[in-house]
Amino acid sequence: MTDLHRLSIRELSEGLKQAQFSSRELTEHYLKRIAHLDPKVKSYVTVTAEQALAEADAADAALKAGNAHALAGIPLAHKDIFCTQGIKTTAGSKMLDNFISPYDATVVAKAKAVGLVTLGKVNMDEFAMGSTSENSYFGATSNPWALDRVPGGSSGGSAAAVAADLAPIATGTDTGGSIRQPASFCGLTGLKPTYGRVSRFGMIAYASSLDQGGPMARSAADCAYLMNVIAGHDSKDSTSVNKDVDDYVAKLNGTAVKGLRIGIPKQYFNVAGLDADVKARVEESLKKLEEMGAILVEIDLNMTEAYVPTYYLIAPAEASSNLSRYDGVRYGYRCDNPKDILDLYKRSRSEGFGAEVQRRILIGTYALSAGYYDAYYVKAQKVRRLIQQDFLKAFENVDVIAAPSAPTTAYKIGANLSPTEMYLGDIYTLAVNLAGLPAINAPVGFDKDSLPVGLQLIGNYWSESQLLSIVHQYQQNTDWHTKRAAIAEENV
Ligand code: GLN
Repeated sequence: MTDLHRLSIRELSEGLKQAQFSSRELTEHYLKRIAHLDPKVKSYVTVTAEQALAEADAADAALKAGNAHALAGIPLAHKDIFCTQGIKTTAGSKMLDNFISPYDATVVAKAKAVGLVTLGKVNMDEFAMGSTSENSYFGATSNPWALDRVPGGSSGGSAAAVAADLAPIATGTDTGGSIRQPASFCGLTGLKPTYGRVSRFGMIAYASSLDQGGPMARSAADCAYLMNVIAGHDSKDSTSVNKDVDDYVAKLNGTAVKGLRIGIPKQYFNVAGLDADVKARVEESLKKLEEMGAILVEIDLNMTEAYVPTYYLIAPAEASSNLSRYDGVRYGYRCDNPKDILDLYKRSRSEGFGAEVQRRILIGTYALSAGYYDAYYVKAQKVRRLIQQDFLKAFENVDVIAAPSAPTTAYKIGANLSPTEMYLGDIYTLAVNLAGLPAINAPVGFDKDSLPVGLQLIGNYWSESQLLSIVHQYQQNTDWHTKRAAIAEENV
């Protein structure tokens, strides 16, 4: 079969169960596509062909024996921020270029346990800091829709791999938009779960109070399958929440939109940098949801102006603390011929970290230092609480909140935006992490350059199932999610 990469997760699961094809055939098919097409996309940092085929054979044996999980034998790609035992985990950094973790992240272990086949590790902005994936030590990844454009970031490799059909599903992480924005730039569905829904154990920390892993795929239904595997409490992560997990697939339903109250924040649609095409596509998608039975309600989110400054104090503050562990002593990059211990620290960190990571460590260290702590860090924490309260007030009147995922479509590679310009591009995604809420991106059309546009739906705590169902129903009534980039249409 030459078109195995066009099948949805449900179709793959059924095809494997009915022995229409084996996991080995499917895995070889994806590995062949990666070998032929990834030199153009550059989504993979590491391809684990040999191990993938061994995992595929194990899945085939389980399928034959009749005791396989629904996802057994289906390939996936992991963002290179999830620790993988025996396979290098770089977090997109020179600092970890040769790091091989002695253990698997919980997300990786859970994927393995059900028989998902790891194709490899995909590119990302260094330590998940960025919005283009250009901050990777391993170089930029291309957007499959236009190879001279970025796929977004920081989970740009995950998005590009799925959008080019070089993996059917991928894991991503989202600290301030890193699942939703690349999903938006690449025409995919991506879910950022409620903080605490997915274990952070073995997920290399950027900003611990904001980081959350989640699925990236071609549809809400495909995301639901992966959520069923990765969601849940983990005693190894004290911030993971011990709360029942939904069966996200079984709960996908066709009536989620009827009577749904969707809040439209006035402030969001008046943002200066909001591109006219993005605005138009998002408004059209809301119109469609209205035709399907939703009720659109104008709401106020008065803290909008505070999102970017609040996030860009708290996230760097936490990063400066988390990244202090990379000291050249225990693991990671170590400079040559250090004169003394101070020289070892200084040069290992200056040579091992890229410019954006160093910028954030400096900002974060400053914000946490004696004399500035109250003025910056403590104040940002207070504003963070006000942002959360703003959302909770809104949810008294609406079920979900609609927004663009990003004010623009994908930038040109090398556009070289200033840090502040880049940070402003995160305006629609940051607050969700500050409040710990779940949110989803769904593709809703294209701009004048044929680049994908995304709609973001923000839910109340633990509403993952509802968000997936709404987008699932939207996708049953529209075909944006079925559109493929030209490179994905190539047969190899
Ligand atoms: N673009 C944001 C940043 O640079 C968000 C990144 C993320 O979610 N990991 O921090």
